[in-house]
Amino acid sequence: MNSQEHLEKESLQLLAAALAKLDAGFASLPPFSGSTSKPEELERVLAEVAQRMQNNYPYFHPLYAGQMLKPPHPVARAAYALAMWINPNNHALDGGRASSAMEKEAVAEIAAMFGWKEHLGHLTGGGTMANLEALWVSNRIHPGVLVASAQAHYTHSRISAVLGLKFESIPCDRNGRMDVAALKRRLEGGGVGTVVATIGTTAIGSVDPLVELLELREKYNFRLHADAAYGGYFILADNLEQHARSVFDHLGEADSIVIDPHKHGLQPYGCGCVIFRDPSVGRFYKHDSPYTYFSSGDLHLGEISLECSRPGAAAVALWATQKLLPLKKGGEFAAMLASGREAALKLYEKLYKDARFIPGFQPELDIVVWAVKAASVNESSMLARKIFEEAAKANLHLALAELPVEFFDLVEMRKDRQTILCLRSVLMKPEHKDWIDRIREILDRVTTKVVQAQTKIPPPSRERD
Ligand SMILES: *Cc1c(COP(=O)(O)O)cnc(C)c1O
Repeated sequence: MNSQEHLEKESLQLLAAALAKLDAGFASLPPFSGSTSKPEELERVLAEVAQRMQNNYPYFHPLYAGQMLKPPHPVARAAYALAMWINPNNHALDGGRASSAMEKEAVAEIAAMFGWKEHLGHLTGGGTMANLEALWVSNRIHPGVLVASAQAHYTHSRISAVLGLKFESIPCDRNGRMDVAALKRRLEGGGVGTVVATIGTTAIGSVDPLVELLELREKYNFRLHADAAYGGYFILADNLEQHARSVFDHLGEADSIVIDPHKHGLQPYGCGCVIFRDPSVGRFYKHDSPYTYFSSGDLHLGEISLECSRPGAAAVALWATQKLLPLKKGGEFAAMLASGREAALKLYEKLYKDARFIPGFQPELDIVVWAVKAASVNESSMLARKIFEEAAKANLHLALAELPVEFFDLVEMRKDRQTILCLRSVLMKPEHKDWIDRIREILDRVTTKVVQAQTKIPPPSRERD
């Protein structure tokens, strides 16, 4: 690869060969000429698209270490594109025979990763739709209040509103995990139908204490849904701390699980997944649409999904990725997750030794958060924003997160705000591990610059204190 080039293009040739093979499958059809625009017009528009798409952060590059963003694996990209010449619809078998079968196989492999031999599940547009379905089903079985931790994804309170459910938030402990004692008190109050355990929170990657929650389920008889949209694949990682490890070892005991292949599963956006431990929940999806034709006696995916039309290409891409990189402990895919986590631990260690920063808790997955030392929380937040902006100018893309002050050890800081704006880095690319020194070097440089600029400004008057 030319040193000036970053975007992988070799798979384009493989795609052309695969396309020829796909075409051969339809050789018995009489020839026809499709309507296409003139190639030069196509070329002009595509060049314009390429120009427009330059206006993006470089998500593919290791120096993009901000939000949960990365491009799909080349095999996913190629398989998705290949499927586009057919454009199957996984709503019904008539719309996508092959891709429906591939969806069932790929989802069964995900279920097996959680230790489920039996399951009911399917792909969705993303984690939001997947959670909506899980909570909709959950409420049919165990009507009542839905509770999730204060660090749960905001989608849960919105979904509750859509479903007409009452939502309550349970406080987190200092590690950003659901506070078990607070949950227990709430359960004593009665009326809870479902508890959502977040297995890898979106902001900080914290893992709720599932083992304790499972014990509480015995006593209080609620439904337990695991939102593992971000963290689910870490079940395969071999370098988790004991808390996270034991949670993943019991994840299969949840009633339903959501996982996002478009987050850590190397897929293009438009690929979430919901699975239920008890296949009989399929009864809740029952419909008798006059437009959904039955070309086979099989239960088709449109009968077990709230969304109707769905991209068969998403299933094809996922299937292909899991063929190349099986969801196995000790495999290549598992090593990628472990590598991101190693990167996070490495960065955390370096931040810990840097007197200018206050790291949050040790990363549970591959997300690191840290605050900037300052006289007050307000000032610290301002510095974090400046470092974030200066780092971006130096090609290092981080993220910001507004977190409760309790998550950090701010002993010498004036607490003039309840939350602190801190720096955040999601190290989800396997390449990150080898780039930590470089990342750290840029961070060091821009921090020095920001702090120096800061000390030139006269300090704010303390008289009003
Ligand atoms: C990303 C995420 C969601 C939402 O999923 P989308 O795919 O963005 O719709 C829900 N829960 C958690 C924990 C997430 O990380």
